[in-house]
Amino acid sequence: KLAHFPAVKELAGFDFEAQPSIDPKQIRDLPASRWIANGENVLLLGPPGVGKTLLSIALGREAILAGYTVQFTTATTLVAGLVKAHGERRLDEKLLALSKPKLLIVDELGYLPLEPDAAHLFFQLVSRRYETGAMLITSNRSVAEWGTVFAGPVVATAILDRLLHHSHVLTIRGDSYRLRAKRKSGLIQ
Ligand code: ADP
Ligand code: MG
Repeated sequence: KLAHFPAVKELAGFDFEAQPSIDPKQIRDLPASRWIANGENVLLLGPPGVGKTLLSIALGREAILAGYTVQFTTATTLVAGLVKAHGERRLDEKLLALSKPKLLIVDELGYLPLEPDAAHLFFQLVSRRYETGAMLITSNRSVAEWGTVFAGPVVATAILDRLLHHSHVLTIRGDSYRLRAKRKSGLIQ
């Protein structure tokens, strides 16, 4: 039931040496911080290919092993579902369903900027889960750029205010792991 991970990934498969911008301790200490039980949030930020989706799946898997209900979705799917439910006058039902899993993972927030209505629906979800359900959000945009993601600073600030109140923000830097092999073989620079 739930989860819907797009691939099988484990924390053990994450090569921390290839990713010096992230302190392994930051990741390994998360379970002990009881972030999920406390309804806190984790933001994994960084450019494409640095392992955000891998880590979000791996942390979701750990959460399931610890006995939590987990739902994995992408920002695009999530927002489309909210917009559809709103149009069909069953937003409350949808928000209720999305507040059930103890951990909601939202991958790839910020690839596409949201329309004002969609940004407001996302705000409603964040409000609903605030302090009761944990969220793990990955984004290729820094928090400073979220104004552009959420159709302006007003909604962005309201969302960030709640998300960041109890949060662990991990910023990953560096080159895409996907392109590493190609770089090594000299195919690209
Ligand atoms: P992002 O979501 O940040 O764009 P992904 O998590 O999809 O990046 O990672 C891209 C690919 O590289 C995936 O196949 C992932 O498993 C792999 N990968 C990324 N970083 C690492 C790493 N540090 N160790 C092992 N595999 C990695
Ligand atoms: Mg990804």
